[in-house]
Amino acid sequence: MVYVAGKSSESLARELGLESVIKLGSNESPLGPSKAAIAAVENAARQMHLYPGVEAGDLRADIAERAGVPVGSVVIGNGSSDVLLKVAAALLRGGGEAIIPEPCFSMYEVAVDWAGGSRIHVPGLDYRFDVAGIVSAITPQTRMIFLTNPNNPTGLPLSRQEIEFVLSSINSNITVILDEAYCEYVDPGDRVDGVDFFKAGHRIVVTRTFSKIHALAGMRVGYGIAAEELVSEITAHIPPFYSGSLGLKAARASLWDDEHLIRSRDVNDDGRKYLTAAFTAMGLRVLPSAANHVLIVEMANVDAVDRLMNERGFIGRPTGSSFGLPGGYRVTVGTAEQNRAFVTNLAAVLDSMAP
Ligand SMILES: *Cc1c(COP(=O)(O)O)cnc(C)c1O
Repeated sequence: MVYVAGKSSESLARELGLESVIKLGSNESPLGPSKAAIAAVENAARQMHLYPGVEAGDLRADIAERAGVPVGSVVIGNGSSDVLLKVAAALLRGGGEAIIPEPCFSMYEVAVDWAGGSRIHVPGLDYRFDVAGIVSAITPQTRMIFLTNPNNPTGLPLSRQEIEFVLSSINSNITVILDEAYCEYVDPGDRVDGVDFFKAGHRIVVTRTFSKIHALAGMRVGYGIAAEELVSEITAHIPPFYSGSLGLKAARASLWDDEHLIRSRDVNDDGRKYLTAAFTAMGLRVLPSAANHVLIVEMANVDAVDRLMNERGFIGRPTGSSFGLPGGYRVTVGTAEQNRAFVTNLAAVLDSMAP
């Protein structure tokens, strides 16, 4: 299994000779990073000849403070993908099975394969995770179970009851990995905070990232909250000066910029509502997302639609090859202007294809 990244604006522009590209294909933030993060990087740029010093420790302490957990239970990685790899390597040392519900982020497969474990896939039920199926798939060899809340590519959230059901069904050989890459986009009134399960003493690792709402995807910073023994096991094997100081500084500034986060969430809320309503009005089936992307499912000729959208300078994400979900077309919520342009062009493409 290899991770297949979405197209980049630059590669599409070169390939098709386009002047401008609107990319709603990789769940990146349309607003860009917090001004505080940009200032932190600008200030640090002249120090880039120095090895990182206090940056990782400072970020770790701040994450612990914000989450209300001990510093020893925070592990920072180069993106949360990196944390997922390291957690899988630690939990699957000596082999064992990992339960992967579908449809999901393909990094879980990459991580389990890399760690030398066996994958047990559990198909979804109408695009939702089948929690009863997940629990039935547990065997004496099970070591880890992946959950994503809200999920990618569907945007669908898990309920508190669903997460509790899985947590109450595991034995002491098993750890649940709860990937919260999109948690900050969930309406605060509906949000189920994975760290609460950790605080309640469950065998859970919560992973989060600075790539999505914090808009630092290019910096590669993510983190996990996990039992201190697991964190020590992971950190014992990472090289010195692991993450770059610019990314660490940007992440720390961003962590405290609530104003930017709230603005990003508000823009996303409006855009998500708009895209969901517009695609539905076009006769498409759209899943009710809680994240920063919406998934159109059961779409005819997705690959042809994607190609025609590319020719018009738009990047979306067909979910056939990268998520094992044929007929899916994932659209990241952009700015109001980008969303409108995407909708207008998708309507024109679908019209042009109508028999
Ligand atoms: C984007 C994403 C991540 C974050 O990846 P990074 O390595 O932190 O950039 C993690 N999980 C899911 C489900 C994602 O979609």
